[in-house]
Amino acid sequence: MQGQLFISLLNPGIGLLFAAAFFLLWLRRRERYVAYAAGAYLATAFAFLMQDVAPVMPMELQRLPANAGFLATGMLFAAAIIRRYGLPVPWRAMSVVTAISMAIFTWYLLADPSIPARIYAISVGAGAIALMVVYALAPIDKPHLIDKVLFWVAALSAANLIIRPVVILTFSGGFDNYVGFQQSVYWTTVQFSQAMVSIVAAISLMVAVAIDMIAELRREADDDQLSGLLNRRGFEAAAGAALRRCHDAGQPAALLIADLDHFKRINDTHGHAVGDAIIAAFGAHVRAVGRDQVIAGRIGGEEFAILCPGAGVEAGRQLAEAVRTGLRAACANRIPDRLCPTVSIGLAVGTPGEGLSRLMHDADQALYDAKRTGRDCVRSFTPKVVRPAAAALG
Ligand code: GH3
Ligand code: MG
Ligand code: MG
Repeated sequence: MQGQLFISLLNPGIGLLFAAAFFLLWLRRRERYVAYAAGAYLATAFAFLMQDVAPVMPMELQRLPANAGFLATGMLFAAAIIRRYGLPVPWRAMSVVTAISMAIFTWYLLADPSIPARIYAISVGAGAIALMVVYALAPIDKPHLIDKVLFWVAALSAANLIIRPVVILTFSGGFDNYVGFQQSVYWTTVQFSQAMVSIVAAISLMVAVAIDMIAELRREADDDQLSGLLNRRGFEAAAGAALRRCHDAGQPAALLIADLDHFKRINDTHGHAVGDAIIAAFGAHVRAVGRDQVIAGRIGGEEFAILCPGAGVEAGRQLAEAVRTGLRAACANRIPDRLCPTVSIGLAVGTPGEGLSRLMHDADQALYDAKRTGRDCVRSFTPKVVRPAAAALG
């Protein structure tokens, strides 16, 4: 009996510990899915306490809150996983399944008592809720290992919940009373496998929270708030990786370096806030023109780099002209009407294998040309021709 009590305390204990852990996480990261996870573990602790440990009501009635708690665990856990992906939580479908399960359960509790029928009612109901997670997650991308793990936790839970009662009840027969049930192979298996699923699911979700936090920090570290583009660090990392992919695919890449003209004068004449508004408008404009085909960053105060993987000279020049000529319209309504900001752009096209620093250097040379020849224009980098005679002499 003593041993049985300890096994009975296993699930409420795990539930309370993880509920507390997710609650603490939620205090630091107010995401709804973390709160749902805390709720799921609280519900599981409550359900197992009701079921096994704390007989506060007559035995039959005690079953109702206990099993409602099991289904609530399923719903909250499903909500936590689905919500993590920003997908709509099927509350209505889950509530209908829960209501049907509880109605069948109550019927076989009070009107026509049958323990196996009650087991099927709850287990299949919870299995259906787990299947909703599988259904929601099946079509979406699962870029990280943790995404696959969460999917398979749901799929295996669904299989476990639906198949387990059928298999075990077939082999062990029915139960005459609750004492027999609580000491049965079935209930011991449920307690043990539930403890395992609880631990695996909690660890998976915690890893998911950690991965989300790291991704957010990385985004913050790589982004420039004012322009909405990458910052220099983010640009160099993303552009370097894109250039390596171009190299592997044998493709060229075009790099533009754009510098807003006479920006110091604009600041001095119209104020820093107007300068900021132009930088913000330019960032939005570059995102609109480049869509998701380019990697763009603010690499200095009023200096930007735009890498267009796969583009040659012609495509690079077209992109540069679109950026240059659209600036005025992009700034409309954001700055004083009489102010017409312009931008100078240097373009360099790299052959496969050319590194980012070389390309930036070449585009900078072209930008220097653009500034020198009057601004508000696009210039391409042309390598200096080394005359054979000079080369021979050198
Ligand atoms: P050029 O046409 O030759 O590029 O002249 P310029 O005045 O744009 O170039 P310069 O390098 O002399 O000055 C750049 C100015 O950009 C100076 C600095 O005050 C301003 N600037 C840099 N970062 C920001 C910013 O975040 N906001 C605002 N409003 N101005 C900035
Ligand atoms: Mg400038
Ligand atoms: Mg500059």
